[in-house]
Amino acid sequence: MSQKNLPVGRFAPTPSGRLHLGNLMCAMLAWLSAKSRGGKCVLRIEDLDAARCPFMGENTKYLLDDLAWMGLTFDGEVLWQSQRTAVYEGYFEKMREAGLIYPCYCSRAELHAASAPHLSDGVPLYDRKCLLRAERGEAPPPGRKPAMRLRVPDRDIAFCDLLQGEYTENLERECSDFVVRRSDGVYAYQLAVVVDDALSGVNEVVRGNDLLSSTPRQMYIQELLGFSHPAYAHIPLLTDGEGRRLSKREGDGCMERVREVYPDPAPVIGALAAALGLIPSPESMTVAQLLPLFDWEKIPRDAIALPQGF
Ligand code: GLU
Repeated sequence: MSQKNLPVGRFAPTPSGRLHLGNLMCAMLAWLSAKSRGGKCVLRIEDLDAARCPFMGENTKYLLDDLAWMGLTFDGEVLWQSQRTAVYEGYFEKMREAGLIYPCYCSRAELHAASAPHLSDGVPLYDRKCLLRAERGEAPPPGRKPAMRLRVPDRDIAFCDLLQGEYTENLERECSDFVVRRSDGVYAYQLAVVVDDALSGVNEVVRGNDLLSSTPRQMYIQELLGFSHPAYAHIPLLTDGEGRRLSKREGDGCMERVREVYPDPAPVIGALAAALGLIPSPESMTVAQLLPLFDWEKIPRDAIALPQGF
């Protein structure tokens, strides 16, 4: 395989709380997938929202420490989204110059009061109120700072996910025009993630399948900006005993508790490896020992239950 085709994966956590085992499982899979085929894996801290994720705040320090504790080492410099506003601005301007961006003055309450159906991530499908008003030549409401939306065409975007198989979404009917810059000037995740993955040479995105429905939007931005599409693997979420997904806010699988109970990472790595089907039953091991055992064919497609004892 030429150097050019080697996988470049990434782990891109948002440090809005202490990591939980599900996040670590995702990091481990991204790392194993790229490294087991001689590739690289980069780390990016998605701290765009300074109010929720202060730069180098406590959660980020724990996050870096949890990853090192697991033995997950990343290639190159860590990328901090909070330090990259000028980069996002350049790509945003390209789309604006192409006439694809328009200001939206709708408040959160107005958006949620609209009777439009909601997207799977809870965001209402935008009814293009501000676009239609501008087209009628009417003035926007005074005294409000607008968010910026990307206008989408009536087009299906399809891709084949490594784990979830074929997935298709119609941009206009299932996503609608979406925010690429918030009203407070912060660039949105959908834009930042595309720019950063492309500029880091990432060609394989491994992440939780709660982000599956974001992928067509991101693929559309990749197309507009002339970036190639990475391969995608959306992994099942780790769930608690009742089948609920783990949350950073609740205690289950929280790394603080995991590390109190297990000062040594080897049994934790073994328990995750067994839950993922990489080994037949839990045993103590390192992430390096898992490299020759890694195979996407073994990874479950549905929810994975938190291993016993966590
Ligand atoms: N920052 C996102 C999260 O922590 C993940 C983004 C991605 O992997 O594309 O949920």
